[in-house]
Amino acid sequence: MRLIENWFSERYSDNLQLSFRVKDQLMSVKTDYQRIDVFDTYDYGKLLAIDGTVQMCEYDEFVYHEMITLVPLHFTREQPKKALIIGGGDGGVAGQLNKAGVNDITNVEIDSQVVQVCERFFPGLTSIFRKPGVKLLIKDGIKYLRETREKFDIIMVDSTDPEGPAEGLFSKKFYEDARNKLNEGGVFVTQSGSPYYQPKAIKMAFEGLSSVFKHVRPYTAFIPTYPSGFWSFTIAYDSDVDEPETTPFSGKYFNNDILRGCFLLPQFVKDLIGVT
Ligand code: SAM
Repeated sequence: MRLIENWFSERYSDNLQLSFRVKDQLMSVKTDYQRIDVFDTYDYGKLLAIDGTVQMCEYDEFVYHEMITLVPLHFTREQPKKALIIGGGDGGVAGQLNKAGVNDITNVEIDSQVVQVCERFFPGLTSIFRKPGVKLLIKDGIKYLRETREKFDIIMVDSTDPEGPAEGLFSKKFYEDARNKLNEGGVFVTQSGSPYYQPKAIKMAFEGLSSVFKHVRPYTAFIPTYPSGFWSFTIAYDSDVDEPETTPFSGKYFNNDILRGCFLLPQFVKDLIGVT
C-alpha cells in the first residue's frame, strides 16, 4: 500500500475514494488470503484495512460491533447460549457477544495473521479470545460450518465483503448449511454491505436467505468509515418471535430507538431487494 503524502484512501470506484490523513503506517503484510494494513490516522485512531478496504477503526468500531451483535439477540426464542462467529478475527464481535451474556463462543477466522496483527495493534479487542468459553479456530468458515456436528443459537458472519475467501459466505448453499446448524429458535446474521456502493451484497444476502429462512430482515446503521457511511446487516430466522419493543441492552450507539428504527428502510433499498 503506497501512501500518498501520508494519506490512506479506500477507493469505492474510479471516481470516488475516502481518504484518511495518517500519522504513520504501522504494518503492511501480504498473507495467503489478503493484504493487511494498519494505519495510525489523525481522526479515527488506529485503522485496520484488508485489501485496501476499511475493516474497523478505533473511534467507530463500536457501531458495527454493537449493531451486528445486539440486534439479532432480540430475535432468538430464548437468550442464546451458544454462538458461532465466522470472520471477526479482530475480536470485536466476540467481545460484544460476551458483554451481552453469551459465554460459549466459537470464532472461526480463516487468516491467523489477522488475529496476530489485531493482537498487536488492537489488544483491547482481541483479549476476548483468551476468555474461558471462547474458542478461536483458524479455518475456512464455509468448510467449518459444513463439517461441524455442533449446533448454535446464533450464527454470525462478520466477514470481509463477498469477494475472495468471503464470497462463499453469501451463497445459498452456505445459508442452507447455516440453517441446518442452528438450534430451534436460533437466528442468523450477516453484514450485508453498503446499499449505495455494494447493492450486490445486500441483494445476495436477502435473496439467498429468503430462499432458506422464513423471516429475513435487513437493517442499517451509520458507520462513518464504511462506504457512504450507510451500512446494512441482514438477520434471518424461522420462529415467529414478537417484534421487540424494548431492549435490556444499551451501548454507545445501540438503544431502544435504534432497535425499532434500524429496520426502517429507504425506498431505494426496498426497491433493490424487491420488498414493498
Ligand atoms: N467488520 C468488517 C466488515 O464488515 O467488513 C469485517 C472485519 S473481520 C476482520 C473480517 C474477517 O473475515 C477477516 O479477518 C477475514 O480474514 C475473514 N474471512 C473472510 N472470509 C472468511 C472465511 N471464508 N472464513 C473465515 N473467515 C473469513
